[in-house]
Amino acid sequence: MTTPQVPNLTLNDGHTIPQLGFGVFLVDPQETERIVTDALELGYRHIDTAAIYRNEEGVGRAIAKSGIPREELFITTKLWNGDQGTESAHAAIDTSLEKLGLDYVDLYLIHWPVPAQDKYLESWLALEQIKASGKARSIGVSNFLVDHLQRVIDGSSTVPAVNQIELHPAYQQREVTDFGQANGILTEAWGPLGQGKYPLLEEPIITAAASKHGKSAAQVVLRWHLQQGTIVFPKSNSRERIAENIDVFDFELSDAEVQAITALERGGRVGGHPLEVK
Ligand code: NDP
Repeated sequence: MTTPQVPNLTLNDGHTIPQLGFGVFLVDPQETERIVTDALELGYRHIDTAAIYRNEEGVGRAIAKSGIPREELFITTKLWNGDQGTESAHAAIDTSLEKLGLDYVDLYLIHWPVPAQDKYLESWLALEQIKASGKARSIGVSNFLVDHLQRVIDGSSTVPAVNQIELHPAYQQREVTDFGQANGILTEAWGPLGQGKYPLLEEPIITAAASKHGKSAAQVVLRWHLQQGTIVFPKSNSRERIAENIDVFDFELSDAEVQAITALERGGRVGGHPLEVK
């Protein structure tokens, strides 16, 4: 099997990130080593985990077993809400690195802003120190709205490299992505397939494009993301679908197809609200 040619995007700090990776939210900790091993064998080099997923050890074991040189991998993990704050953020990155068996992560994110506890700016300043220490190559945020992004930009000397947000054709958060684009923040889509919670993959516009290109509906949705410059890391427990989700670099949607899929926006959030998740 040839390794799929996943493009690299350049972050605002000069580091690069593979535009497509593998997400491990809701991957059972007992199954994580095997499933991430499948993903690495199938050509994925970018893995997105989080302390709260409780599967960093499994990701770490798969990495160690793979024998893939560290510099060829891009590993993201995230600071959980209860660990926000200066001392606790420093302790949390050390715990994550220990579980992952790594000296550094490529990207460390604040998982949710949790405005009610009002610690995300303090946490961001801690992430700046973590980056300076070399424990994270790049730093970013997740589930931040425009106000939260503006506050960290104004209150620190680092613009987040990415903002990882819920994003799929039914829920596109254009205000947040436009702000990111204007400020050099790349957008990462979580739930790129809508988490399978509504029948996105049965939308006629998507199934028609799939038939036309001889691809699956999931592959069409992933192309829609990629052609807009968004970073994706679909999750699957199935080796077959893991292979399918990276096999998206041999076709291109037309502008009309991209526009028709974009017109599926309907405010269809499937995950938590950034102002409410604690
Ligand atoms: P996804 O949109 O990736 O959807 C995953 C679901 O789609 C699973 O039920 C999976 O089922 C199914 N699926 C995967 N591939 C296919 C396919 N080719 N055809 C049909 N069904 C498919 O949702 P996620 O929530 O997992 O999002 C991706 C990643 O984003 C996460 O794993 C995590 O890393 C990150 N994330 C971040 C959040 C944050 O707050 N920052 C929140 C949520 C996710 P099956 O496993 O059976 O194949």
